[in-house]
Amino acid sequence: MYLYNSATHKKELFQTHTPGRVEMYTCGPTVYHFAHIGNLRSYIMEDVLEKFLRYEGYEVNRVMNITDVGHLASDADTGEDKMLKGAKRENKSVMDIAKFYTDAFFDDCAALNIKTPEVVQPATGLIDEFIRVVSGLLDKGYAYEAGGNVYFDTSKLDHYYVFNDHDEEDLAVGVREGVEEDANKRGKNDFVLWFTKSKFEDQALKWDSPWGVGYPGWHIECSCISMKFNGEYLDLHCGGVDNAFPHHTNEIAQSEAYLGHPWCRQWFHVHHLNTNSGKMSKSKGEFLTVSLLKDWGYDPLAYRFFCLQSHYRKGLVFSRENLDNAAGAYKKLIRRIAALNPDQGAADPAVVRQYRERFLELVGNDLNTSMGITCLYDVLKAPADDASKLAVLDDFDRVLSLSLLEQAAAERQKLAVVQPAPSGIGLGSRVEGEYLVRHKGEPDPEISALVLQRAHAKQAKNFAEADRIRDELKARGIEITDRPGESVWERI
Ligand SMILES: [Zn+2]
Repeated sequence: MYLYNSATHKKELFQTHTPGRVEMYTCGPTVYHFAHIGNLRSYIMEDVLEKFLRYEGYEVNRVMNITDVGHLASDADTGEDKMLKGAKRENKSVMDIAKFYTDAFFDDCAALNIKTPEVVQPATGLIDEFIRVVSGLLDKGYAYEAGGNVYFDTSKLDHYYVFNDHDEEDLAVGVREGVEEDANKRGKNDFVLWFTKSKFEDQALKWDSPWGVGYPGWHIECSCISMKFNGEYLDLHCGGVDNAFPHHTNEIAQSEAYLGHPWCRQWFHVHHLNTNSGKMSKSKGEFLTVSLLKDWGYDPLAYRFFCLQSHYRKGLVFSRENLDNAAGAYKKLIRRIAALNPDQGAADPAVVRQYRERFLELVGNDLNTSMGITCLYDVLKAPADDASKLAVLDDFDRVLSLSLLEQAAAERQKLAVVQPAPSGIGLGSRVEGEYLVRHKGEPDPEISALVLQRAHAKQAKNFAEADRIRDELKARGIEITDRPGESVWERI
């Protein structure tokens, strides 16, 4: 596939260090609160990327950290530890908070059909490894001790800024958040590898180290976890674009300094989810969660569909109206798939191959998921048999993960889809196969057939017949509600 690489600022042919195998790393959540749907946009797009690579035939080893220590309120190593903040807010221990929000994160992922990575590593589980790498950086002269902390010395690098397409405002992260500069730093971009002089006496989690009792900086955990589980050569590193600086920039600095060779080949950054009032952010206090979407009556997969409709490198504007549109389109798509006959025999392999090639080409162009969605509609319109169409949709869904066939099967059961009445009713204009007859309560095929006959009559402008059927049904205690493309009947 071709993928935009934020490190080279170009779309490139995706290649890996070991042919056929992708070493992939994803920055995981800081588990001090629920993930907001903006964070989850990144995880959805990364999930599609992983699944697309598998679809292309790669074996993928995906690794993710869980940040349960060391991530301070500002990404520039200042402010309070986020975990401690969460624990104080809820009057629980840091470990309870970590457990609760880690579980909540994976529940959200499951609801959004996001696959769990092969390796999920909490930062607190690998402290010895962080100490080993920090010691190595000190030995190699890339780090220094000052005021009790260990810092990475960015002046030792030939170049430090790698991503120049991040928001320039992010460069002033310390200034923006109104926090004082750390006087122990020799250079303004130097960052903490190990803290011992925390200004918070009640820092909950501390470990012994050669530099005193303390805890790791946030950036070092991702480098160490990736080097341990992905090896020395990382093919693909993913994250939200707001992590490009300073987090990913620092990961590159310390990993390459430690390894002595280039580290990660390809950087994939997902852009922000915006609301009408700006970027969605937890620090602003108000944020949207998957639970809230459910409370509002949305299927979480409608949110996945909404995300897939636009490109990952563009900001996406979230509003209830936009989500309503996506949810409506998703529901309609499922209904169209439900109208296909699932018992029609074997698929035509030539048809499946033809559409698969098109999907590979279109989605393989910088993960163009909206073209992937377009492919679904192309299949539905195709002059192919239902079995082949269903096989192709199922195949695409290995990447898109919209539960298309499962949802369609549930829809068939729920809605008692009735096929068009056989010819011989004598209508000049036939109701199309997609016309749905639904019922509330107990099903009754005879009633459904009469309701469909009435729809045919109306379509043929035979209103006298349509009224006659309606009156007959009414006499039997059946009321019909017509909506565009469907009728719903119920016993009253
Ligand atoms: Zn990270």
